[in-house]
Amino acid sequence: MLPTLFLSHGAPTLPLMQAPATDFLKHLGDTIERPKAILVASAHWETEQPEVNAVARNDTIHDFYGFPRALYELRYPAPGDPTLAQHILDLLAKSGLRGTVDTTRGLDHGAWVPLLLAYPDADIPVLQLSVQSHLGPAHHAKLGAALASLRDQGVLVVGSGSWTHDLRRFRGQAVDAPEQPDVTAFADWMDAAVREGRTDDLIAYRSRAPHAADNHPTEEHLLPLYVALGAAGPGATAERLHSSGMFSMLRMDAYAFH
Ligand code: ZN
Repeated sequence: MLPTLFLSHGAPTLPLMQAPATDFLKHLGDTIERPKAILVASAHWETEQPEVNAVARNDTIHDFYGFPRALYELRYPAPGDPTLAQHILDLLAKSGLRGTVDTTRGLDHGAWVPLLLAYPDADIPVLQLSVQSHLGPAHHAKLGAALASLRDQGVLVVGSGSWTHDLRRFRGQAVDAPEQPDVTAFADWMDAAVREGRTDDLIAYRSRAPHAADNHPTEEHLLPLYVALGAAGPGATAERLHSSGMFSMLRMDAYAFH
């Protein structure tokens, strides 16, 4: 059975960089059984209620500004899977979650940045799932749990966000600048909670984890974690696949849930 994944997608320039997180993602596809399709819950698609994209082929959305031209030339034209999108809506409905399809949207950089590195051939169907950042962790765990059967069907469920994500702190630091202490404290607390399966602590991370709001002023980059956790099913074990930091404040940690 496939694991579910949480990936930190980093800055949009990640595919053009040489960094430990880039190397990790480049080898990720070799370490997992090849999926029939990939569903990415991305921090960069926020909606009122769950939405799934349903297109024959995905456009590449360059949803960022002021980056090098080479970045705007990258494409990830993976096929979509409208039939699977409808199946996903049916699974959500069985759990009392109302969802809709978006028949035009392609892939934002939360999806295509890690996939371009992990599956560069873009030949596996990819779908996106939106997050509802106003509904918090418990909702996203429920959203993931509704999709747990996808693991048996060869669909790789990926939550794409960032282990820490306070971009206001980026002031041109070097990529390998020493990490800020509260970033380490938050990341370590989350790592222990994930690996020890402390679901209640994770759901309540905002009041229990040190410096939670400092590292996630808004929640959308952490909520995909809960989709991956929920989709792994109860009793799943967490494996840290990767840990690194960039610019002193951006943690790139990644997990598999088995
Ligand atoms: Zn992002």
